Amino acid sequence: MEKIFKDKTAIVTGGSFGIGRATAIAFANKGAKVAIVDYIEDNETLNLIKSLGGDAIFIKCDVSKNVEVKEMVKKVIEVFGTIDYAFNNAGIEGLSAVTHECIEEIWDHTININLKGIWLCMKYEIQQMLKQGKGAIVNTASVAGLVGFQGLPAYVASKHGVIGLTQTAALEYAKLGIRVNAVCPGVIKTSMVDRITGKVKEVEKQFENMEPIGRMGQPEEVAAVATWLCSDDASFVTGNAMTVDGGWTAQ
Ligand code: NAD
Repeated sequence: MEKIFKDKTAIVTGGSFGIGRATAIAFANKGAKVAIVDYIEDNETLNLIKSLGGDAIFIKCDVSKNVEVKEMVKKVIEVFGTIDYAFNNAGIEGLSAVTHECIEEIWDHTININLKGIWLCMKYEIQQMLKQGKGAIVNTASVAGLVGFQGLPAYVASKHGVIGLTQTAALEYAKLGIRVNAVCPGVIKTSMVDRITGKVKEVEKQFENMEPIGRMGQPEEVAAVATWLCSDDASFVTGNAMTVDGGWTAQ
C-alpha cells in the first residue's frame, strides 16, 4: 500500500474497537504514526498495527473529561511532535427510550461523550494544528445526524450536534490550513451494532434489509472514507458530512 501518510501522525479516538480500530490500522498501513485513544485499555489494535510493521501508541483517555483530553493531546505532541490528522470517533449508542421517557442521566451521559467529547478533542487538537498551520480533522457523526430515529433522542441530538460543530470549525479554520469534515455511517457491523441486535440473526436481517445496498457496512469501509478525507486528495473538501451508509439517506 502506498505510504501517503509517511512521517505524519494521527489521533484516533475510540480506537480500541470497531470503526476506530479499522481506521487506526488504515492510517498505519498508509504510513502514519498513530495514537490510539480509548477509555477501554485494549492492546489488540496496537498489536495489530505493530504486527503489520506500523508505529503506534495507546493513550487511555475518556473523551468527555476536559483534563484527560488536554493531557492526551499533550502526550501525542510529546511523543510524535505533531498532530497532522485526527479522527474523533469515540461514541456510545446510549440507552433506547422515547423522548418523554428518556432520563436525564442518559441524556447527559450520551451528550457528554458523543458531542462534548468531540468538541474537547477538537479544542486541543486545533490549538496544535494552528501552530503547525495545517491539519485535517474527521469527526464521526451518523445517519442519525441527518435524520431522526425513534427511541434515540439523545443519540440523534448528539450526532446532529457533531455535524453543526464540524461545519462551524470548518468555517472558522478554512483559511488557516485546517480542514474539518464528518463521516455519517449507516449500519456498520461493530460491537455497537452487536449490542443493539443482540447478535440475533432475525434482528440482524432486519438491519441488513434497512440498507438499500442489502447488507451492513464493514468498519474498513468507513476507515477508507475517513482516511481519504484526511488525505491531500480531499484538499478542497471541508465542512462536509459525508454519508457512508449504503444508500440509507437516499431513500
Ligand atoms: P464500538 O462500540 O465498536 O466502538 C466505540 C469505541 O469508542 C470503543 O472502543 C469505546 O471503548 C470507545 N469509547 C466510548 N466512549 C468513550 C469515551 N468516553 N472515551 C474514549 N473512548 C470511548 O462502536 P463503533 O460502531 O465502532 O462506533 C464508533 C463511532 O461510530 C461512534 O461514534 C458511533 O456513534 C458511530 N457510528 C456507528 C455506527 C454503527 O452502525 N456501528 C453507525 C453510525 C455511527
